[in-house]
Amino acid sequence: MERFQCKQVSIDPTGAIVVADLLSVDGHHSGVIARATTHIHQDHIRGLKRSIRETAMHIASPLTHDLLSAYGHHVPYYRRVDASYGTKISIEGLYVKLLPANHVPGAAEVYIETNNGTSILYTGDFKLPGTEIVEGVDVLVIDATYGMPEWRRPWQQEMEYILPDLIDESLSKSPVHIYAYNGKIEEVVLLLRRMNVTAPIVVDKKRFKGLKTLERHGYKIGDVFYSSSREALEVKKDKWYIEFHGFYEWRRRNINGSKAIHMLLTGWEFRAPYTWLTSREIVVSFSDHADFTQLVDYVLETKPKLVITDASRGGTAARVFSEYLRQRYGIRAYAYP
Ligand SMILES: [Zn+2]
Repeated sequence: MERFQCKQVSIDPTGAIVVADLLSVDGHHSGVIARATTHIHQDHIRGLKRSIRETAMHIASPLTHDLLSAYGHHVPYYRRVDASYGTKISIEGLYVKLLPANHVPGAAEVYIETNNGTSILYTGDFKLPGTEIVEGVDVLVIDATYGMPEWRRPWQQEMEYILPDLIDESLSKSPVHIYAYNGKIEEVVLLLRRMNVTAPIVVDKKRFKGLKTLERHGYKIGDVFYSSSREALEVKKDKWYIEFHGFYEWRRRNINGSKAIHMLLTGWEFRAPYTWLTSREIVVSFSDHADFTQLVDYVLETKPKLVITDASRGGTAARVFSEYLRQRYGIRAYAYP
């Protein structure tokens, strides 16, 4: 296949999406004027320290900026450009605005118009519904983490109901320990509160700061305690609580000596919405990314002239997805870099 190089958009091997040599998104690129960050995940904040040193502006949603601070990545006020969803920012010949993305709290897509009228949309990470679709953009740069046709979760939207029910049901018997990545933990706390699951929540000190940041932004987080506090010890005596742990702590879960239920949240489970391993261990298919079906839906609804799939993060899946769009729908689609 002939390799096509879009003149205005490229993706660095480090993951920076570079637009017109003026703006880099989710990675550092030397010589640009502005850096934007779509959300707090590690693979989207690479090179942030360097961008803060070398780049005049750092654009992110106000919540993403505050969450970055809470997690130890402070953007100084003289670099920080808080962009609420929909607010237009001018960078030399570019107009830039952030649009809402359903991923982790604060997440955004980045919409750009160049001075020759080309429109570019970078999705960042997202799932549907809740992510804005801009019909007819010229260039769509899309996350394709789940770009393999077999990576489908037909129950994805129902998980908004299934997961809180599972947790509530488990809480009626014992405490619940949940293991998940950063960002997903915050997303699940907000989901539980929306669905009126009111049990006290125990987290480590860093995530506690993150949740308090969400509260300052108007989200309902209810009773939350950090694990070594006196209040947390009191709460744990009652046996009616949810404790969150990092994803990798699942391997060190201790199922001896207590009746607690241990729940792993992962997007890499395509067989069923959830699977009990034992009466106290459960793996739940819960992702903050679009699955293959949602990726295709998103592209078909956007009707872009050109699609670039992000292979710096999606790897082989991004290459397979661009190939699928070309073969199945005749859409001009290429994986970068
Ligand atoms: Zn992410």
